[in-house]
Amino acid sequence: MVHGGAGALDNVKDNRTAVRYLDSIRRVLEHGREIMTLGGSALQAVEACAALLEDDPVFNAGCGSVLNENGKVEMDAAIMDGRDLSAGAVAAVDNIANPVQLARFVLTESEHVMLISEGAMRFADHCGMDRVPEHYFYTPDRVEQLKQARLKHKIMLDHDDTDVDSEDQKYGTIGAIARDPFGNLAAATSTGGIVNKRMGRVGDSPIVGAGVYADNETCAVSATGYGEDFMRSVIAKTISDFMFMKNMNAKEATEAGIEYLTRKVSGRGGVIVIDKDGNCSSGLTTKKMIHGWIEHGGEAMVRF
Ligand code: ASP
Repeated sequence: MVHGGAGALDNVKDNRTAVRYLDSIRRVLEHGREIMTLGGSALQAVEACAALLEDDPVFNAGCGSVLNENGKVEMDAAIMDGRDLSAGAVAAVDNIANPVQLARFVLTESEHVMLISEGAMRFADHCGMDRVPEHYFYTPDRVEQLKQARLKHKIMLDHDDTDVDSEDQKYGTIGAIARDPFGNLAAATSTGGIVNKRMGRVGDSPIVGAGVYADNETCAVSATGYGEDFMRSVIAKTISDFMFMKNMNAKEATEAGIEYLTRKVSGRGGVIVIDKDGNCSSGLTTKKMIHGWIEHGGEAMVRF
């Protein structure tokens, strides 16, 4: 399963833009399928799928990341392996094309779970990752989006529910989750965060248990929406706990998680979930969420 962000998405009015999103999601799903058909693990699949989405400027991750209050890109990403709960995460990084790959290096090449900012960038150098120039990230849409947010004195989701008059904001945070034929689960989430955020603000995406979670005994989860809501409700781990403690399947645990998110923190956003048996589910409190799935080897399905 993959997602490309939650929000109003009222801006995606014309057919061409919708087709562009859905084609991208479908292509990424098929790429994930191919990796696992050729024997790749769930972890390899989610890393590759997340990296592809980071490379697509229509999404709020990698090259399409939104800008913070200083007009700079600060990206967060995480990846988690359900086999042993190993995880790698980075926060407030810039000048790398694929934060999810750096998160993967943190998982495999360091003894830590999370590295941030300059320390994370030095680690990227140590791992031989190339630095990309600033202009790699700056799309005219992103600059305009920040200008609008500043004018409204707002910190907002990439496609904010309350921001229906902004026609050009049509991007979203990304996530990928997978179960491979061996029953292993993995999850990855990557984002530029929210528009006009404070410098140094870290959202839920790189936080294990909030924006990302994977445990072979329960499920894989990736979240998108207002990170503060997801951190306070520890939503990804809460969904996993519903499965572990109440023996729920993907659909039941997703519904219970969304109910909890709404009741406790009036949370705004959505989640994608695969349970240990390979059932796919999604839930949201915003109007829409771009997402897609391949269930039990069937056809790729894509939705707003
Ligand atoms: N969850 C992300 C954050 O708060 C934003 C998003 O999903 O669009 O950083």
